[in-house]
Amino acid sequence: MNERKDMEEAFASSFPKDAWRNRELTIVNRKGQKRAILADTEMMAEGKDWFLLMVIRDITQQQEESRLIHFLAHHDTLTKLPNRYHFNRELEASLKAVKSSKALLGVMLIDLDRFKLINDTLGHQFGDQALIDVAQRLRQNVDHRHLLARLGGDEFIILIKEAEEYDEIVSLAENIHLAFQLPITLQGQDFYLGGSIGISVHPFDDDSSDGLIKRADIAMYNAKHSGGNQYRLYTNEMIALVQRDVKLEKHLRKALKRKEFVLHYQPQINLASGQLIGAEALIRWQSVELGMVHPGEFITLAEQTGLINEIGQWVIAEACQQGKLWQEQGWNDFMLSVNVSSRQFMQPDFVNKVQEILRSSGLEPDRLCLEITESMVVNNLNVARKMLDELVALGIHIAIDDFGTGYSSLSVLRQLPIAIIKIDRSFITDMDAYQGGLSIVKTIVSMGHDLQKQVVAEGVETLDQYEQLKQLGCDKAQGYYYHKPLPLLEFNKLLVAR
Ligand code: C2E
Ligand code: MG
Ligand code: MG
Repeated sequence: MNERKDMEEAFASSFPKDAWRNRELTIVNRKGQKRAILADTEMMAEGKDWFLLMVIRDITQQQEESRLIHFLAHHDTLTKLPNRYHFNRELEASLKAVKSSKALLGVMLIDLDRFKLINDTLGHQFGDQALIDVAQRLRQNVDHRHLLARLGGDEFIILIKEAEEYDEIVSLAENIHLAFQLPITLQGQDFYLGGSIGISVHPFDDDSSDGLIKRADIAMYNAKHSGGNQYRLYTNEMIALVQRDVKLEKHLRKALKRKEFVLHYQPQINLASGQLIGAEALIRWQSVELGMVHPGEFITLAEQTGLINEIGQWVIAEACQQGKLWQEQGWNDFMLSVNVSSRQFMQPDFVNKVQEILRSSGLEPDRLCLEITESMVVNNLNVARKMLDELVALGIHIAIDDFGTGYSSLSVLRQLPIAIIKIDRSFITDMDAYQGGLSIVKTIVSMGHDLQKQVVAEGVETLDQYEQLKQLGCDKAQGYYYHKPLPLLEFNKLLVAR
C-alpha cells in the first residue's frame, strides 16, 4: 500500500471498529526514503475523548536481511545465477506441472571444456572472471521462460520448462553451442573455452528430476568424449560408453606400473628419394583385462583424468631412449616424432621435463620432433608461443599434426616456431575423391613452403596419392601404402634392410 490515499481510505474504513495488528505498510519518510513498517493500533478513551495509539516499528533492515538470506540460499554468489538448490526446486515444480500436459521438458547440462586451463595458467581471479563472462553470455541466449543456473565449478544447467516440440530444445542447444564459438577476452588475450552440452528430455528419457539430470550428464560426457565443444541428446546407448570408460579408467590407472604400454613406430618416407627418414611413435596399450586398446579409445580419458601427464612423459622418454639406440646403431639422419596432448603440453614444467629426458637419454635434440595440434596453440596463443620458443631453444622440432582440421590461420602459423606441417589424412583421402580435393592439398603444400615449413602427408594409402604428392613437391609421407605402425622388432627389420 504505497499511496497515501489508499492508506487513508484503509484507515478510515477500519477505524474505529478494528484495531490494526502487525499491519505491514510502506511509507516514505521525511528524507524521501521508502521504509517498511509494522503498525499496531489501539483505541483509548479518556473521559469523552477518544485517542488512537499507534505503535510503529521500522522493519526495513530486517526485511532486507531476510531477502538477502533468501537470495543467498537460492543463488550463486559469483555469477548471481540461481544455484543447484533453486534449480532442483524449480525442476520438481515444473515436472509436476508438465505431467498433466503434453508438453516436453528439457534439462541441458553445460560443462566448459577448457576452464581448467585458464585457472592453471592465469590464476583463479581470471577463472572467476571467465565464469562471470560465460554466465553473462548464457543469460543472453536463454529467455525468461527457462531457468539458467550454475551447478558449481564450471557446470551450468538450463531447465526448459515447457516446449511444444523437440526442435525448440535443439535450437536452444544450437544457440548455446554458437555462443561458445566466440572467444572470451582476459588480460587482452582471446580464449576459446568450448562447451560440452548434454540434453535429456521428459517424458522420453526419464520422468524423475534426478534421472533427467543424470541422463543429461551422461549425454554431456559423450559430447566431451567425442572431442567436446558440441551438444548431444541423450540416448540409451550412451550408458555403454560411460560403463566402458569406468572400466577403462580403473585399468588405465594401473597400466603404467604394470608396463602395459608399448610404442609402435610408423615409418616416414622422403617422397623425393623414397628413403626411410624417420618414424612417428604411436602408443599402444596391451591391457591384461581388455586386450589391445588403441589410443583413440583411451587418450581422451587419460586427458580427462590427468593420467596423460605421466603416460605422455613415459612416451617421450621411451621414444628418446629408442632414438638414442638407433643413433648408436649408425642411423643418423632420422627424425622421431612424438605426439603431445594439450593437457600434457600445458603443464608448467613441461619444457623442463623434456629437457631432462633429452639429457638422460642422450638423444641428439635435433632428432626429436613433438607433434601438437592447432587447437592447442590457438586456444592460448601467448602461453603456447612462449612454450614453443623454449622447446625450440632446446634444439628440437615442432610439427602441427592433423593440419587443416582446426581453426588456425596462416598468420598464427607464421608467428610460431613450427618447422613441420602434417596434412591431415582426410585431405589426402579427398585428393582423388573429388575435383577440389587435389587443389586443397596443393595449396597447403605451397603455402607451407612459402612459410619455410616442411610438409608431411599423413594417411597415404594408394600409389596414386603417393605419385600426386611427389609431383606436388610434398616433402615426406607416412601411411598404410608403405607401412602401418610397426612393433619395434619389425621396424628394426626395415632399418636393417634399408
Ligand atoms: P595421429 O598422430 O594423427 O596419428 C596418425 C594415426 O593415423 C595413427 O592412429 C595411425 O595408425 C593412423 N594411420 C597412419 N597411416 C594411416 C593410413 O594410411 N590410413 C589410416 N586409415 N590410418 C592411418 P593411432 O595410432 O590409432 O593414433 C590415433 C591418434 O592417437 C594419433 O593421431 C594421436 O593423435 C593419438 N596418439 C597416438 N599415440 C599417442 C601418444 O603417445 N600420445 C598422445 N598424446 N597421443 C597419441
Ligand atoms: Mg601424430
Ligand atoms: Mg595426425
